[in-house]
Amino acid sequence: MPTELNKILNFIDGQFDGPVGGKYLDNIEPATGQPYSQVPDSDSRDVDQAVAAAEKAFPEWSGTSTAERSRVLLRIADLIERDLEKFARAESVDTGKPLSLARSLDIPRASSNFRFFATAILHTENEAHVMDGVAFNYTLRQPRGVVGLISPWNLPLYLLSWKIAPAIAVGNTAVAKPSELTPMTAFLLCEICREAGLPNGVLNIVHGTGPNVGSAITAHPKVGTISFTGGTVTGRKVAEAGAPLFKKISLELGGKNPNIIFADANLDAAIVGSLRSSFANQGQVCLCGSRVFVERSAYDEFVRRFVEKTAQLQLGDPLESTTDQGAIVSRTQLEKVKFYVGLAREEGGKITVGGSAPPPPNDRCRDGFFFPPTVITGLPVASRVNREEIFGPVITITPFESEEEVIGYANDNEYGLASSVWTQNLNRAHRVAEQIHTGTVWVNCWLVRDLRVPFGGMKQSGVGREGGNEALHFFTEAKNICIAK
Ligand code: NAP
Repeated sequence: MPTELNKILNFIDGQFDGPVGGKYLDNIEPATGQPYSQVPDSDSRDVDQAVAAAEKAFPEWSGTSTAERSRVLLRIADLIERDLEKFARAESVDTGKPLSLARSLDIPRASSNFRFFATAILHTENEAHVMDGVAFNYTLRQPRGVVGLISPWNLPLYLLSWKIAPAIAVGNTAVAKPSELTPMTAFLLCEICREAGLPNGVLNIVHGTGPNVGSAITAHPKVGTISFTGGTVTGRKVAEAGAPLFKKISLELGGKNPNIIFADANLDAAIVGSLRSSFANQGQVCLCGSRVFVERSAYDEFVRRFVEKTAQLQLGDPLESTTDQGAIVSRTQLEKVKFYVGLAREEGGKITVGGSAPPPPNDRCRDGFFFPPTVITGLPVASRVNREEIFGPVITITPFESEEEVIGYANDNEYGLASSVWTQNLNRAHRVAEQIHTGTVWVNCWLVRDLRVPFGGMKQSGVGREGGNEALHFFTEAKNICIAK
């Protein structure tokens, strides 16, 4: 791997290189609070070079046969799997998440993304519409050209590969920017792309900050398509930058997801499932259920047992195999979590478990960014803590009296990303799922992903859908060809 002095490098036109301006930022390991590598602090000059490389590569790559594009993507998936341990370790060190989670979820899902889209393109159908005696129309889907892909820090390789794979599978070329907080797995991916035989310029990765690199990608006149995942405030900026040029934009944004437990649920399963949906990756999954609602008759038992289980979660060094809860991604994010716990106290909430900084798990992690899983009860539904996205290991639990009331609670929020419903009553499951305004509703489960289904948010959780055909359609331009009879 071409690191010089532990430096991460940009990947442009198949070559690793430093940023034009020669500046770097420290890449901090969240578990230790110390820099462990440096990441390019690139700017619009690097983005210009990347776009030029992508533009140059487009004619050949878009003209490459589907079978060959599929073969290269499958090879990338194979190589990620071969290097699973290296990727998992890099992901854990970069993000602070438990190594066991990176190994079992993030990295396997990243290789699945490549495998899925590599094979999906072999099985697409083109629509044809016949007009009696007049003409027939068929739909031709063509790659759009140079696409911009911007992703956040919480699931860095998984979310970036979820964009890269469909974008290049259908023949586009890409300029991608991972979060500068978590650049390492994208760096490792570039080496694998080279080894897999991906032609130069098809994938270009420019590291750096959102204001410098992200905004240069979204504003670039030759990047007509943007796929963005991140916070709602940033998503608004991306939409504003793209609107004057009528860019095609997909936005996957924040959430404040309801997790609804009816008294007729299998309570054991609901507790185990809710523990995951509350605290997986220290609550830093956009799909985490941070607002838990429990039907009044089951409320006391649920809270008692849930709090007991939460207290048993092992907070520790992310690299230790016994760790359930690792570090928060950055000092800024840790401060945000602490702020909301303080606000919960001011708003009248009761901290039933967690709530204050724990002792460091070991000497290596003495300056790390740790916060324990925290459960808050007794907060009004309309409180800020119950409405705003915290994106950390902090959840609220609120009782409800009826189906109608909890549907109202669930929908009374500007976000609409995902929800979970726990019940053994099949009719209720359908009825409630239909009425909740979120892009995904999980019934008696959480984070189950079928890559064929549409994925995305309602309301301020996003615009557009990713996944399966939705992604293949987003990354292609549909053209109608009408042939007279
Ligand atoms: P963020 O601050 O919005 O950043 C997301 C990405 O955008 C980063 O790469 C960031 O770069 C970049 N960026 C920042 N300013 C930009 C600008 N002006 N123009 C273009 N790009 C810019 O989000 P985050 O804090 O990394 O991630 C957490 C958020 O992502 C949460 O709200 C979470 O819910 C959401 N999320 C949503 C989904 C989903 O599928 N809906 C999935 C995961 C996460 P820097 O890192 O350098 O600032």
